[in-house]
Amino acid sequence: MSSRADVLSKYAGETVLAVGAHPDDLELAVGGTLARLSRSGARVVMAVLSIPNNLQVRRAEARKAAETLGCEVRLLTAGRCCRVEDLKNHELVGMIDGLVKELRPAAMFSHCLANLHLDHKLAYDACMASQRLGYFDLFCYSPTSCHQVHIPFQPQIYIDISTTIEAKMKAIRHHASQFEKRGLKTDHYRAASGQVGGIVGVDYAEGLEVVRMRLN
Ligand SMILES: [Zn+2]
Repeated sequence: MSSRADVLSKYAGETVLAVGAHPDDLELAVGGTLARLSRSGARVVMAVLSIPNNLQVRRAEARKAAETLGCEVRLLTAGRCCRVEDLKNHELVGMIDGLVKELRPAAMFSHCLANLHLDHKLAYDACMASQRLGYFDLFCYSPTSCHQVHIPFQPQIYIDISTTIEAKMKAIRHHASQFEKRGLKTDHYRAASGQVGGIVGVDYAEGLEVVRMRLN
């Protein structure tokens, strides 16, 4: 057992808001970090902006995955299939603003700019806009699209997820409609976390871009 202080305990007793455009984005990018935050005593709310298809199935998958990570899930458009780009900008901003006003998060996790998927970029813009409502730490997580992007993702901090990699992988596997049922394997997400871990000398890690962070 390490005697080093758990830096994520800074959020113990606080609420952390993680925003994803679609079910599975958060699990793929920051599943290990969110599980660690939950285990450190934070209330973690995973907000899913849209479910593009297969509504019932993907709703159930999102709920099971969040439970696996010890997080709450908010499906913001749970009553219908849509994409983020189907929402008017003011609706999208209003959704994120509403969550910030309700939850008063100590930290937010957002998509990053390094995305070609328009839904991800729209979600990023709405999260950035919510900074005007007051102070919270703000981080951007890695691209979740399977396409390589030419826009750089440049993480400055790395979260050791060696203790939560199994929860992350289980949460990803709950999205069977996106992987197993399409004949797609999920093992490479474990390998990717291992590669990121290698940068900072741990078994598994997730990188984050820091938009703003207060050091008390
Ligand atoms: Zn997505």
